[in-house]
Amino acid sequence: MLRRALVLLTAVVLAASCAVSEPDVRANDADGATVERVEDPDCDAATIGGEEATLVAALSISDGVVEGLCAGEPDARLDAAWSELIDIVPLDRLDAVGVFGAFDDADSDVLAFVAMLGDANERFGIVVNVAAIDLDPDEFRLTLAHEVSHVFTQTPDQLDVTVDEADCSTLYNGNGCFLDGALVMEWIDRFWSEQQLASIPDLAEGDEDGADRRCELDAGFPGPYSASSPEEDLAESFSAYVFDLEVPAAVAPRVDFFAVRSEFDAIRDHALRSTQVPPVSSADLCGP
Ligand SMILES: [Zn+2]
Repeated sequence: MLRRALVLLTAVVLAASCAVSEPDVRANDADGATVERVEDPDCDAATIGGEEATLVAALSISDGVVEGLCAGEPDARLDAAWSELIDIVPLDRLDAVGVFGAFDDADSDVLAFVAMLGDANERFGIVVNVAAIDLDPDEFRLTLAHEVSHVFTQTPDQLDVTVDEADCSTLYNGNGCFLDGALVMEWIDRFWSEQQLASIPDLAEGDEDGADRRCELDAGFPGPYSASSPEEDLAESFSAYVFDLEVPAAVAPRVDFFAVRSEFDAIRDHALRSTQVPPVSSADLCGP
């Protein structure tokens, strides 16, 4: 008891001395925007700006922690979006996220995207459309979980970025060649027929034009967008899993794909304990 009390006392004294001697350094402004700047070579519009390069701000992230603002001007919406992401996903599952950026385009139907940073697939950028957050906060939360799946399906244990498209015997997604046994390959084995796969002209691009037709014919897809490519299918199903959305019986095997893999338990538990109200189920069903 005595020993414990002494240790406790030491801790209190240390904390008190820190409070006195350390200046009150604020890394965020009054709105909560990160203002402290850091250099990050991967943090530039050419890498994470997307096709329109409308990047407004980006945070450099290391091991799930914000290191500082690495592009643009302080933007509280970006920090709020990051807070939402870490409300859904545990920090230790975000170690492959190197940059978290924002673009601002109310006219774009792109809610967010993931970009590989540099030549290796060890760091990724997640870039979100901050204009979309207020329009539909539930949809935005689903999107955050969706994007996280694009990261964990492209890390080096899943995707070999050193293999050229011509030498890829599995599936080349534009960044690299999926390994045998990769989640995306298992996904295709389970849920995509050869005919469905063959109906996509360019797997690296996905096929939104043909998605509606595949959706109409197969009730297993969780919405038309998921029928645009196996990766989008996996991503949409993952966000349904994470938020425990009610899905039709035909979609349930896709959600169960994650439920039987214990490595995803922590993300789902974290998301379901999050401070926000879980999103409601999407009404976009597939099937004849
Ligand atoms: Zn996606």
